[in-house]
Amino acid sequence: MNLLLLEPQEVTAEGCVTLADRRHHHLRTVLNSAPGDTLKVGMLGGNIGSATLKETTPERSILSDLVCTRPPPAKLPLTLILALPRPKAARRICRTAAELGIEKLILLNSYRVEKSYWQSPLVQTERIASYFLEGLEQAGDTVLPELIVENRFKPFVEDRLPALLEGKRALLAHPYGDAIPTEAITEPTVLAVGPEGGFIPYEVEKLLLAGMQTMSLGERILRVESAVPTLLAKLFP
Ligand code: SAH
Repeated sequence: MNLLLLEPQEVTAEGCVTLADRRHHHLRTVLNSAPGDTLKVGMLGGNIGSATLKETTPERSILSDLVCTRPPPAKLPLTLILALPRPKAARRICRTAAELGIEKLILLNSYRVEKSYWQSPLVQTERIASYFLEGLEQAGDTVLPELIVENRFKPFVEDRLPALLEGKRALLAHPYGDAIPTEAITEPTVLAVGPEGGFIPYEVEKLLLAGMQTMSLGERILRVESAVPTLLAKLFP
């Protein structure tokens, strides 16, 4: 946690915040913070800045002199369409995506996404938001990516995807596709990444019909958690 994220309603009129949750435990057990220390903080959805640790007891930490005037780091102009990952991998993938600065995540159903995944408590929207928060705390960002859940492939790809792609670069990460574009991308981009089993040919065809273009990282098949950071690093160096 490189940034302590605070919610506006937690701040008193005097600019103090009392913490008693995991942030308090992090201050005490990981950072070993002592009264007088300056802490890097950010307002959820707002600016970043600093606060002073005024008091700490086993039960709570009190921050004072809160000043947040700097904007958070810029996001990547990227919407990631991700076939719903295996629940155990979802935390790592969503945390990494937020850490790297994606603007929007669309979790999509696909033929090779096991139906049971959708029922898992690990992939419900509140859990996904908590993975995003971990990514923001790591990266020093304050703005949660937007989350959209599309649990039916065909209506999404036929009815909503074409409009979403308008005016944007639209890429489908596909090991058997075209070579990766070599120039750095600065324009708004939509990138689709398949499930562990890959998109089936019908789905690839539908995504291409909607206006996407394939891109390949080469013949090595990467796990989704490796493919996502590799794709982003290559597309936005
Ligand atoms: N078993 C599948 C691979 C799935 S890997 C198959 O053989 O087709 C999961 C997803 O990660 C893929 O759908 C793709 O979006 C992405 N991915 C993995 N390796 C990739 C590569 N070399 N190039 C582009 N995308 C890749």
